Amino acid sequence: MNKPRVFITEDERLVAISLQWKLNSLGYDVVGIASSGQETIEKIIETHPDLILMDIKLKGSLDGIETADQLRSKFDIPIIYLTAYDDDATLQRAKITEPFGYLLKPYQARDLRTTIEMALYKHTIDRELKAKEQWSQATLSSIGEGVVTTDIHGKVTFMNSVAEQLTQWLQTEAVGREISKVLNLVNVKSGQTIANPIMTAMATKQVVNQAEDTMLIAKDGRTIPIDNSGAPIIDDQGQVNGGVLVFRDVTERRELEEQLHQSKKLEALGQLAAGVAHHFNNLLTSIIGYATFAKDTLPKDQLAANDLERVLEASGKAATLTHQLLAFARQEQIQPHLTDFNLLVKKIWDNLIDSIQASISCRVVFAPDVGAVKLDTSQFEQLLTHLVDNACDAMPTGGQLIVETQKAWIQEAYCDQIIDIPPGEYALLIVTDTGLGMTDEVKAHLFEPFFTTKPVGQGTGLGLATCLGIVKQHHGHIFLQSSPKEGTCVKVFFPAQP
Ligand code: ADP
Ligand code: MG
Repeated sequence: MNKPRVFITEDERLVAISLQWKLNSLGYDVVGIASSGQETIEKIIETHPDLILMDIKLKGSLDGIETADQLRSKFDIPIIYLTAYDDDATLQRAKITEPFGYLLKPYQARDLRTTIEMALYKHTIDRELKAKEQWSQATLSSIGEGVVTTDIHGKVTFMNSVAEQLTQWLQTEAVGREISKVLNLVNVKSGQTIANPIMTAMATKQVVNQAEDTMLIAKDGRTIPIDNSGAPIIDDQGQVNGGVLVFRDVTERRELEEQLHQSKKLEALGQLAAGVAHHFNNLLTSIIGYATFAKDTLPKDQLAANDLERVLEASGKAATLTHQLLAFARQEQIQPHLTDFNLLVKKIWDNLIDSIQASISCRVVFAPDVGAVKLDTSQFEQLLTHLVDNACDAMPTGGQLIVETQKAWIQEAYCDQIIDIPPGEYALLIVTDTGLGMTDEVKAHLFEPFFTTKPVGQGTGLGLATCLGIVKQHHGHIFLQSSPKEGTCVKVFFPAQP
């Protein structure tokens, strides 16, 4: 083993030399001697010893304690004071610099050796402890979930960066505060504050999970749905000496659950609508039939013939509506053919473009590799028309409309994130606008038949409901991203032909 390398700071040359001999005879290497604080600091940078023996009375402006204090902030080298002073004031000052030993002159060689050995050993242990602590901190900081620890009284002692991000509290501000102030938890349904599970976990010595309905209110007032779990920190003696809370943002999962709930609701609505539409259609057939007969028997200039013409017009509109309802409810038979996706989009787009107001700039982007898809072309035309109509309605004062085709390969991993879409190859139709966008409230009802935010006479609320019906019949999927004032992007996935 290498000899420990010792540095001596001693203002009396003779004492220093004699100490050096003593140390050599005890098996240490003396790597440097200095008589002032300043000289010590300079030489330590070059020599990097394992230990410093420091006299307190020195030459120059710094005494031993002041020198030790400066060294402590720059280097991790243990210091032992060798001094003739043992008054209270000196001892108190020395303590603050956390020395590894304090030897009073005159001392025995034996005491010197024990003190040095203990200091070196303690320093090694300290280093290992520090490394372990750093490792734990680094691990806790790298965890992808929020982690907060508290002391036994529920005061925050640590939080990792994910916890900082979610709560909007900085660790430096949060440490020492009550956990309930930093992690303000409420029940989504009742709006009531929830006790932090850390407190219950510490009281019961058990892990407490809170998975449902918990909302975190961040420092800036933002609300984030979370799952969390509190656990007691138990020492080797079995005593609880703190608590740890692990929590994660579950916004995405709750949204997916909401979507699933929504699509179940739509299915039920669809069945209801289909039943009504079916009967209604039969009645309309009679109305249209008898009104036509009656009109045909009347001379054209009769006022009643005119009225019957209105009846027929209105019935025609009602029939279109019922067809839309039936399409939404997936009751109409579709007739899919293998169709070149890009060509079809182009053909429909060429018909649509003339009716788009001039203040909207339009762009069409075709991906080269989309190929053929099995589609009912007239239904697909309805779909694209509804989407373009909605986009244009959202841009009353102009904007940009992009119609795009794309090919997508959905991987398993992606399927977990987007509910209900099996892995595979898809042809995508994407309609993007820079219009008004939608609030969460509007988004929640989008696909419901008759849901519209447009004035009476302008919107039927059947556009997206119909689109959903069409997409489902083609075993496709429709997703919509939208933010108020930023615009909307609708993506429709059709299974590609193998
Ligand atoms: P309608 O267009 O007859 O209102 P839809 O089912 O097509 O019925 O659309 C329902 C509602 O969804 C609209 O009233 C509108 O509030 C909203 N919406 C649909 N598409 C968009 C869009 N591109 N931008 C903003 N809002 C939209
Ligand atoms: Mg519409």
